[in-house]
Amino acid sequence: MDRLWAPWRIGYVLGEKSTECIFCSKPAAGDDEGELILNRGPLSYVLMNAYPYNNGHLLVAPYEHIADISGLSEEQLADMVRLAKAWVEVLRRAMHPDGFNVGFNIGRVAGAGIEEHVHLHIVPRWNGDTNFMPVLADTRVVPQSLRECYEVLRNELAKSG
Ligand SMILES: [Zn+2]
Repeated sequence: MDRLWAPWRIGYVLGEKSTECIFCSKPAAGDDEGELILNRGPLSYVLMNAYPYNNGHLLVAPYEHIADISGLSEEQLADMVRLAKAWVEVLRRAMHPDGFNVGFNIGRVAGAGIEEHVHLHIVPRWNGDTNFMPVLADTRVVPQSLRECYEVLRNELAKSG
């Protein structure tokens, strides 16, 4: 596998390993813009992946600290999938990807970075971006800054009302 220079991943590798759960602390921080939270449903919310595998890589997580997909209630699962559907549509309008990978990475062997709080990945794909599924690839080049991407997506969400 090609190893590309990927400074945003270095931050992840070398960063202090906090004991707090980011999927619990981010929505509780009261600073959705600062925390890159795009929007909230009743039981789950959408945020940008700070260590993305592609532009527009989003995560949907329940507010409740639940480790595994099997611990999600029907209502939580429905809320997450409803948000995922809405955001596939927003991403489609804002970024015109050719396709998406949407799913759960369960267990480290499957590429899960944070195993203690279940989350759904939405990864936009463009023809020729890679031959690997980006959730399996080690590193990716992400040309657009997270903050810039956040603004684009929030603007697109506002347009859709
Ligand atoms: Zn948590």
